[in-house]
Amino acid sequence: MSGKNFNWGPGLFLIIYQICLLISLPFYFYYNTPSWSLIAISIVLLYLTGLSITAGYHRYYAHRSYRTNTVIEGILLFFGSMAVQGSALRWAYDHRLHHAHVDTDEDPYSINKGFWYAHFMWMLEKPNKIESKVVPDLMKNRFVQFQHRYDVLLMIATNVLVFLIVGWLLNDYLGAFFIACMTRIFALHHFTWFINSLAHTWGDKPFCQEQSAVNNYVIALLTFGEGYHNFHHVFANDYRNGIRWYHFDPTKWLIWSLHKMGLVHGLKRMDPYTIKKRMVLERKELLLDRICDLWYVKKEELEKKISELSDRIVAQIAEANQLREQYYHARREGKERQRLKEVKRELSQLKRSLKEDWRSWTQLSRNILSMKTLKV
Ligand SMILES: [Zn+2]
Ligand SMILES: [Zn+2]
Repeated sequence: MSGKNFNWGPGLFLIIYQICLLISLPFYFYYNTPSWSLIAISIVLLYLTGLSITAGYHRYYAHRSYRTNTVIEGILLFFGSMAVQGSALRWAYDHRLHHAHVDTDEDPYSINKGFWYAHFMWMLEKPNKIESKVVPDLMKNRFVQFQHRYDVLLMIATNVLVFLIVGWLLNDYLGAFFIACMTRIFALHHFTWFINSLAHTWGDKPFCQEQSAVNNYVIALLTFGEGYHNFHHVFANDYRNGIRWYHFDPTKWLIWSLHKMGLVHGLKRMDPYTIKKRMVLERKELLLDRICDLWYVKKEELEKKISELSDRIVAQIAEANQLREQYYHARREGKERQRLKEVKRELSQLKRSLKEDWRSWTQLSRNILSMKTLKV
C-alpha cells in the first residue's frame, strides 16, 4: 500500500491506539485491580454501543429492516458514535457495497483479499467517495448527515463523557479510561471486524454455497447475533439473523422488544416457507455433490431419494403458498365460512405432511453427510 493510498487519520489512530493499549494494559493490571462496578458498567457500555452498531448502523441504516422514530434514531446514533466505527452513513455505504458485490473487487472488505484484509487492513486504505445513488435514503436523513459531518467530534465527545461520568461515579478515572473506554472500544472493534473476517471463513453454509458468508454460533455469541451471516447474506432485509427462537441474537430480541413497546414498526421478516425452500435447494446440491465422492453406496438409488424428497417438499411449499393466498382471498371477499374452513383444513393437512417430509429430509441429509468420503 503506497503512502498516497494510506488512510492517514483513521489508519494511524487504529494502529497506534491498539499498540499503546496492548503495551499499557498489562501495566494497568499489574498496579490496579478493576472493581466489579467498573467491569459491570463497561460490559453495559459494550452492549449499548455494540447493539447500536448491529441494530442501528447495520439492520436499520444499512438494511432498513424496520422503521422507527427520531428519538430511537438519536439514541442509536449517539451510542453508534461512542462505538468509534465512523459515521452511520459511511458504515452503511460500505456495507451496502459489501452485500451487492460480496467476494469481488468492489466489495470493500472482500475476504478474497485475505483474512486480515477483511478483518482490519481494508480500513487502512483511503475510502472511496460516498456515491449518493447507493445511499439515497441516508443522504436525505438530517440526523445521519449531522452525525456524518461531526463524526470525529462526536466520537471524541461521547467517549470523553463516558470517561468523566464513569470516573466521577466510581472515583476511578484511570479505570474509566482503560476499561470503560479503551478496552471496551478495542473489544467491540474486533467483535465487529469478526463479522467481516471470521463470519466469511469459519462455519457452514445452509442457505448459499456460492459465496463466502457462513453461519457460526460462536461468532454469534461475540457479535450480538450477527454470526448467522450466511442467512443474512441471502435474506439481508430480515430484521433477524438467527431465525430460530433459540438462536443467540440479542439484536433481534432488542428490535422485537422495541416493537412490542410500540417504538419500532414495519419489521421485515422473510416467510418461513421461502426460507425452508432455499435450505432444501441448497442442501440438495450439496448432497448430490457429496454422493459423487462416496464409492461404496448405490448412487442412483440415493440420487433418486434426494431428488424425490426435495422435489416433494418444494412442491408442497408452493401448494401451501397457494392455499394461503386462497385463504386470504376468500377472507377478503367475505366468502362463506364453510369454504374458509375447507381451505384451513387442507392447509393444516399439508403442514403435517410437510413436517414429516422435513424430518425425513433432515435425517437423510444427516446420514449422507456423516458418511466417509474416502475415494477409491
Ligand atoms: Zn458479510
Ligand atoms: Zn448486512
